[in-house]
Amino acid sequence: MELVNTVSRTESAYLFEEAKHYFPGGVNSPVRAFKSVSGPPLFIKEGEGCRITDEDNNSYIDFCCSWGPLILGHNNDQIREFVVETISKGTSFGTPNRLGNELGKLIVNNNKYIEKIRFVSSGTEAVMSAIRLARGVTGKSKVIKFDGCYHGHVDSLLVKAGSGLATFGVSTSAGIPESFAKETIVLPLDHPQILDETLEKYHKDIACIIVEPIPANNGLLLQNRSFLECLRLKCHKYGVLLIFDEVISGFRVGFEGAAGYYNIQPDIITYGKIIGGGMPVGAYGASKEIMGHIAPDGPVYQAGTLSANPVAMSAGFAALQQLLEDGFYESMAAKTKNFVQSIQSHCDANSYPVNIVQIGSIFWIAFAKKRILRADQIDPQGMEKFKILHHELLQRGVYLGPSGYEVGFVSAAHSPEDLNEAATHIKAAMDVVFD
Ligand SMILES: *Cc1c(COP(=O)(O)O)cnc(C)c1O
Repeated sequence: MELVNTVSRTESAYLFEEAKHYFPGGVNSPVRAFKSVSGPPLFIKEGEGCRITDEDNNSYIDFCCSWGPLILGHNNDQIREFVVETISKGTSFGTPNRLGNELGKLIVNNNKYIEKIRFVSSGTEAVMSAIRLARGVTGKSKVIKFDGCYHGHVDSLLVKAGSGLATFGVSTSAGIPESFAKETIVLPLDHPQILDETLEKYHKDIACIIVEPIPANNGLLLQNRSFLECLRLKCHKYGVLLIFDEVISGFRVGFEGAAGYYNIQPDIITYGKIIGGGMPVGAYGASKEIMGHIAPDGPVYQAGTLSANPVAMSAGFAALQQLLEDGFYESMAAKTKNFVQSIQSHCDANSYPVNIVQIGSIFWIAFAKKRILRADQIDPQGMEKFKILHHELLQRGVYLGPSGYEVGFVSAAHSPEDLNEAATHIKAAMDVVFD
């Protein structure tokens, strides 16, 4: 099917050509290049509430929300005002500052799953540090991760399963020594038996299991609570630390993230995205005892020049404070559910093989009817359908992240009316996809 563009994107196309002179592939993060959808990537110049505007002055209802951080929408008044106030006094001092305390206090006092936290500057950095901490605490080196979970571009986690089950990993990127990839074991999600066999065999070498408790980087592979419980039990049994990578789910499905949602206590939790209110912030937290291994209290080294700078802390503080308002998460989940059900009903009425998965304010459009729990159950054919959907939605003024493996995010700034408008467009676009 040829995808014809009737909306002008000439300015974005021009800027993309220019960007190719300066950046590999014209981008500073690969998925932005629109490789798996059609047309040039949009160059966005402005965002307000749930809408973004590109350099050609087209406006879109945004469901990417900067890949998750903007749970309050674009240009949130309280965040902007606090950031402007803070920045007028300087941007970074490389010293402790009061705002770091304020954000740390706000998080730790409202999250029973962590007792101490350390701020860093990205989700990748948080995960990298959490893995080092787990190795430092246990004195062991190997890591178990799951196929279908993403944990940032940490060397030892850019790894896929080798041939056969429960073998050591093979890197998915050039530039990663085989010896690093071998430190990682990649297992399928939703498979307690393989997990048990692997732990039985290798637990003496395994420092930690890392999992996205709500896997949301390769579709939305919602797990059974029993599988997450099994991880908890087995980690205790085998002396392995359990890391919940909550860079997406943290502050998204509830202030206490997936740990709170499922009421499961991991050993270490990583955060990113929402925690910075749109600024580059990551963090990892754990019990006092585990965090006591971090320098300068303990022997696990981890540092950062711009960590907890006051500008980033003020953005995070202004954002998270709003999330603590009564009923915030209930209202987000309710409107997202209505939105998703409206589209799902249209697809069902027309017998389109579509299943929209939702939890809280996260949704994922799967082009298949059956429930998907593991990465290998996703049909790559669906991505061709997504490409058409994405194109049709851009034409109609709705922006989804440019890959069918990416989830969508609803923000507090998406009103029920905005969501109705978007649903109408998505239904019309589905009619074209299945025409
Ligand atoms: C986005 C993400 C990361 C990486 O965070 P960056 O800030 O992009 O480095 C790590 N883990 C999960 C679960 C993520 O969604």
